[in-house]
This record gives sequence, C-alpha cells and structure tokens, in this order.
Amino acid sequence: MSNDRFKCPNCGSENIQNYEVIYTGGRSSNVSTTESVYVGSDFGVGHATTSGNSVSHLAQTCAPPAKQESYGCGCLLVIVVLSLVSALFHPIAAVIILIALFMLYRSMNKDVEEYNTKEYPKLYNQWLHSYYCHRCGHRFIIK
Ligand SMILES: [Zn+2]
Repeated sequence: MSNDRFKCPNCGSENIQNYEVIYTGGRSSNVSTTESVYVGSDFGVGHATTSGNSVSHLAQTCAPPAKQESYGCGCLLVIVVLSLVSALFHPIAAVIILIALFMLYRSMNKDVEEYNTKEYPKLYNQWLHSYYCHRCGHRFIIK
C-alpha cells in the first residue's frame, strides 16, 4: 500500500492535518504558545499563540457539522396560544389553525429528524476524513 494517499493531492506536501486534530488543537482556554516542527518532504516551523477562549480561524473553518435541534415544547405552546386567540374570533378558525399549525410542526420536525438520521452521519463521517494542507491550503478527503 502506498503512503501517497497521506499527501496533499494538490501540491504533494505531507504537511497535512486532519480536521479533527486542527479543530481540537485550535481550541484553547489558556494562553499558550505552540511551536511545531514538521518533518516530511518539506520542512517547516510553525509558531502560534492562542489566548483566552479563542478558537483559531483555521479551527473554526474545520468545525464538525452540527446536528439540527428539533422544535420543542415552546413551539407547541405557540400553536396552542394562537389557536386560543383565533377561537376569540371564530371557533372553527381555532380548529383549522390548530390542525394546520400542528401539521406544520410535525413536518418541520420530520425534516430535522431526517437530516439528523440520514444527512448528519454522512457529513460527520466526511468531516472525520477531511484534511487540510498547511502548505497550499487545499482541503480534501482521504477515504
Ligand atoms: Zn497542498
């Protein structure tokens, strides 16, 4: 098996880093100075200072995908309140609005659920295999 797959496909540099490592390494709660030496086909010295609760710009761009939040009880409360308000005008309107809003609520949560069970695992898996080239800035996926 060749080690070529752990090289940047754009410039051939071995100075590549996994998103997960960049993301966790870029988050720091202390002031720190990091010096790193890369030894590969090219040689470089990295120097980075992080302070406070900052997240480096690079780490930010390598953040993992986020799961979508489902619409909770607050949304149901809004539906009930809107139905009660519309009941002041017409009892039938209250029923129609209650049903319509509840169906909308269900379909919105269905989209969230579908994203979290189908799309999110794919995106997360892709993120786990994503790399960044420190030499040319190329981003790519190694399967
Ligand atoms: Zn590169």
